Amino acid sequence: MALSRPRYSKIERLASDLLSESKIKRPPVPIEAMVRSRDIEIHFGKLEDVSGLIVREGNHVFIGINEDDSDNRQRFTLAHEFGHFLLHPGQNAWYDRKYRSEISSKAVDVEEIEANFFAASILMPPDFLRKDQAQRYVDIEDGDAVKDLAKKYNVSTQAMNLRLLNLIGRL
Ligand SMILES: [Zn+2]
Repeated sequence: MALSRPRYSKIERLASDLLSESKIKRPPVPIEAMVRSRDIEIHFGKLEDVSGLIVREGNHVFIGINEDDSDNRQRFTLAHEFGHFLLHPGQNAWYDRKYRSEISSKAVDVEEIEANFFAASILMPPDFLRKDQAQRYVDIEDGDAVKDLAKKYNVSTQAMNLRLLNLIGRL
């Protein structure tokens, strides 16, 4: 199945449904527990130039994460692979190489854009950010404030910055 463009609203709904099903109401989102609750096996290991991969063999699903990446990066990659699992059932394996930036605008394939968008949506949900912004408004120009917010969500400052940019007018 070739997708012509990313299914943004479907993906946002999916992420928000998963969070409410798991009764997760505040950051940081326990992405590892969410993935494991689906009987997906996660392994952390040395993967050289691969940041993450997912392989399906029948009912067995296996995600590999590069342990040499930063913790934030590993969380984002795990959420990205989980996105492939949920959104792209037709394909049995994905290998995501390191040169792929977590900035989705640099992703080339629609599937990669979708997996990145899913990762951003589940790790930095609009509802959570809206509450944070109501308590203490974070100006995107304020580097220290964005950094603090990123820490709270266990994501990179770069990922948070991009997320806030994408959500301008919605928070
Ligand atoms: Zn991918």
